[in-house]
Amino acid sequence: MDKVWSYLEQLETELISLRRTIHKNPELGFKEFKTQERIINFLTDLDLEIETMAKTGVVALLDCGGVGPTIAFRADMDALPLQEQTGLEYASQKKGLMHACGHDGHVAILLILTKLLTRFKNDLSGKIKFIFQPAEEGPGGAKPLIDEGALKNPEVDKIFALHISNELETGIVGIQPEVASASSDELDITIRGKAGHVSTPHEGVDAIVVAANVITALQNLLTRQIDPLNTITCNLGLIEGGDRRNIIADEVKLKGTVRTTNPELREGVSEKIKNMLIGITSAYGAGFELDYRRGYPVLANSSQLLEGMKVELDSTDYIKALREIKEPSLGSEDFAYYLQEVPGLFFRLGAKAKVSNYSCHHPKFNFDEAALKVGVALFAKLAFIFLQNKNISGKI
Ligand SMILES: [Zn+2]
Ligand SMILES: [Zn+2]
Repeated sequence: MDKVWSYLEQLETELISLRRTIHKNPELGFKEFKTQERIINFLTDLDLEIETMAKTGVVALLDCGGVGPTIAFRADMDALPLQEQTGLEYASQKKGLMHACGHDGHVAILLILTKLLTRFKNDLSGKIKFIFQPAEEGPGGAKPLIDEGALKNPEVDKIFALHISNELETGIVGIQPEVASASSDELDITIRGKAGHVSTPHEGVDAIVVAANVITALQNLLTRQIDPLNTITCNLGLIEGGDRRNIIADEVKLKGTVRTTNPELREGVSEKIKNMLIGITSAYGAGFELDYRRGYPVLANSSQLLEGMKVELDSTDYIKALREIKEPSLGSEDFAYYLQEVPGLFFRLGAKAKVSNYSCHHPKFNFDEAALKVGVALFAKLAFIFLQNKNISGKI
């Protein structure tokens, strides 16, 4: 791989500059028009088939020739509605918008990877798809891309993605061997009571008292009806209801999320909540509406796939260590949708900032740019693991 790595060294300045340009110009989900244009312009200089999909997404295909599998790499492109406070010279030039989740780095890594692998395509057999995906932060670009055929024509056999991590040092690549992140669903409950005067509560139905019971019961439900060895969390982050202190409230709205790392558990949880609501509201003579909306699914890595490549990845130049992380994250990630279709892996790319290390989604978030090269090396190595032309002899 020596010649690949020496070309990667040459590309590092461009890699960092690409990241900074994208960082200066953040765009929200499905509004990544300039980012899309920038990606297309970059790819047009290379010999690739380019398609736009899911409004602002880009899918590029590199045909290396020969007989081999098709693998895909995905980078998310969107930024967050945050006012940047890093004070960096390449800070966001757009008020109220910021790349605070590292997606600028993900795009830069994938662009440089495309250039690198195009240079060495004669050493590979098969095809590579580069998927630039909008709207990971919401409402989700993975599903529309899959629906529009991003994994088809040619059929993708394996897919990979990474996410910059400020919890791991540069050079460390983290991987959860099975479940990597949780499903995230939204829960809206409306309790309907009956308004009345505070002096005659028995003639009304107090939606606030019913809601109080529902809130308590919801937390009890999770600890009494679900095996405690499972991970599930329900957070009600918004409650609203009532008009005045001396009026019996006729309506209360509760809004929250349910997250779990167990797909089977997720199947049954809305039914449990519904049954609890039926019981409590009927006891008080109240009514309810439940709107349970499914968000991103559980992200499950292919442990089998990981097992087969662990040693090679661990000994790759630029990767100090491949670290297995036992605990899944209760964050959610729409890369999960791709993994419902094809086996793949989602890596955590160590990029802990050398000074002032803030977590992602923080207005002072930044990461160590030396990690970008590690990201390219990781993906390049994966391409060579799966697509290396077996007919050529000697070292690449
Ligand atoms: Zn994020
Ligand atoms: Zn992110």
